[in-house]
Amino acid sequence: TDLNHIRNFSIVAHIDHGKSTLADRLLEECNTVDKREMEDQILDSMELERERGITIKARAVKLTYHADDGETYTLNLIDTPGHVDFNYEVSRSLAACEGAVLVVDASQGIEAQTLANTYLAIDAGLEVIPVVNKIDLPSARPLEVKHEIEDVIGIPAMEAPEISAKNGINIHAVLEDVVRNIPAPQGDREAPVQALIFDSQYDSYRGVIVYLRVKNGVLRPGMDIRMMATGAEYKIVEVGYLHPNGMIPADALGAGEVGYLTASIKTVADTRVGDTVTGVEDPCSEPLPGYKAVQPMVYSGVYPADGSKYGDLRDALEKLKLNDASMSYTQENSIALGFGFRCGFLGLLHMEIIMERLEREYNLDLITTAPNVVYRITKTSGETIEVYTPLNYPDPAEILQCEEPFVRASILTPPEYVGNIMELCQQRRGEYRDMTYLDEGRVELHYFMPLNEIIYDFFDALKSRTRGYGSLDYEMDGYRPSRLVKLDILLNGEIVDALSFILFADNAYARARRICEKLKENIPRQMFEIPVQAAVGGKIIARETIKALRKDVLAKCYGGDITRKKKLLEKQKEGKKRMRTFGTVSVPSEAFMAVLKMD
Ligand code: GDP
Ligand code: MG
Repeated sequence: TDLNHIRNFSIVAHIDHGKSTLADRLLEECNTVDKREMEDQILDSMELERERGITIKARAVKLTYHADDGETYTLNLIDTPGHVDFNYEVSRSLAACEGAVLVVDASQGIEAQTLANTYLAIDAGLEVIPVVNKIDLPSARPLEVKHEIEDVIGIPAMEAPEISAKNGINIHAVLEDVVRNIPAPQGDREAPVQALIFDSQYDSYRGVIVYLRVKNGVLRPGMDIRMMATGAEYKIVEVGYLHPNGMIPADALGAGEVGYLTASIKTVADTRVGDTVTGVEDPCSEPLPGYKAVQPMVYSGVYPADGSKYGDLRDALEKLKLNDASMSYTQENSIALGFGFRCGFLGLLHMEIIMERLEREYNLDLITTAPNVVYRITKTSGETIEVYTPLNYPDPAEILQCEEPFVRASILTPPEYVGNIMELCQQRRGEYRDMTYLDEGRVELHYFMPLNEIIYDFFDALKSRTRGYGSLDYEMDGYRPSRLVKLDILLNGEIVDALSFILFADNAYARARRICEKLKENIPRQMFEIPVQAAVGGKIIARETIKALRKDVLAKCYGGDITRKKKLLEKQKEGKKRMRTFGTVSVPSEAFMAVLKMD
């Protein structure tokens, strides 16, 4: 293969700026997919991805493009996820490319993840090609946005194609820019094999399918390979290219190329995104830079609404984990909810996606407990533990020091909303660092924030305070000492462990009051009065009362006809299905949801 006729590139953008739509148009323009069989957003193949319009897992396709210079090029398009939860996957995808098409919405301009993703691309040494999208919108201001790109990012943008990915306008210009401005890959086919894993997927017939970019050497079926980070060794069964309609086997995959390999790999953990594949016989001396294990940031208890479905939930998690190695789960036991799992996620969006997939693809009704970050607690005994769940929060008497994770947040907004944002960040215990005017329309604010304050509904609060214009990006910044407490909820005098959670001490009173109110609203009256209480370290700090039912449901039809009575009982049973009984109190799963979604 002639490297001069290959281009490997990604598309980067802030979420919703049109990356997936542009990818579809590029596929169409290259006739990779028949127009008739073209389904919208073909790269976002998971049903959920399509519905939500986000890209969860990175994907890749090979396009054939006949350029204006009369030559035919192979373009490998590697799709990247656009959300902060998936930053590591973005940077791995980028490391497989020589260039990136930067899509900016002509009506929104540059946003926080536009910047964050562009910096990732620049850091990876990529050529960045700007494209201004959505010019069909009446609110489009392409010229202004080009100036913004030049001023803020500092790359030339005046010649950037002005396109409408939705209406298929000017797509050809994007492809010409890709061919002309993105460098051809370099690499030595004679050198020892060195290939970067940028994604993997589990297939029940072939085992793990490893997506990779070959930097040096040649991969062939029958060859013995080693994953450098894990040390796992396999014999290659098949190599090939990624077509949107499926995988196309090939004899070899060489330096500069993008494709897949299979090797009857049954253990997903052996093929980590970011790891380097090399040959067993003639190994390369060093792995490619930048392998990093992704750590879940947010943990939540996940329980079947119907306790007898525990086995089904375990099977579902096992299968999902094969497809998404960034999720983790361990068994957990709650007095209130019985057997379940403590699951770790990259962020709240990731958590929502997994929950939805479990409920949809595996047909499970789930109860999730309030999400929490990982706290670090030093005990008076000198021992330091990581607390993933309120169930393991030590006795306050044994606690010497608590620490919680902080992030470096950067928020981009038009200047008129700076006041609103500062107020919001202050409420969320943010520590102001600095503020930069990028140009007359954009301000970048920097804060240190507790991760815990961001995982709840910070995105929504930010959007509503900036009329949708504010955007956020963040990265981890280590642990800091904090004053934490565990809040317990008691129903009828008994602690419901599944409702406990850890929070900043000063927020405990307000939160306790609101939870008690919410539970009162969402727990149906029962035959007796139920006190709802919130306590910290055994001390009650809030209380509500659910009054007793006055009339028996059946009393209404006392002596009446028996079928009606039966129907009523039937209905009650139906209503009870999603209820959990705690001691003597029945709580509908909606009550958990209400507490979880609260703010
Ligand atoms: P991504 O999050 O960057 O992948 O963005 P998508 O491709 O999913 O697009 C987000 C939304 O913008 C979708 O509703 C698209 O239909 C819409 N969109 C994308 N390109 C255009 C465009 O050129 N014009 C208009 N009006 N809408 C677009
Ligand atoms: Mg997308």
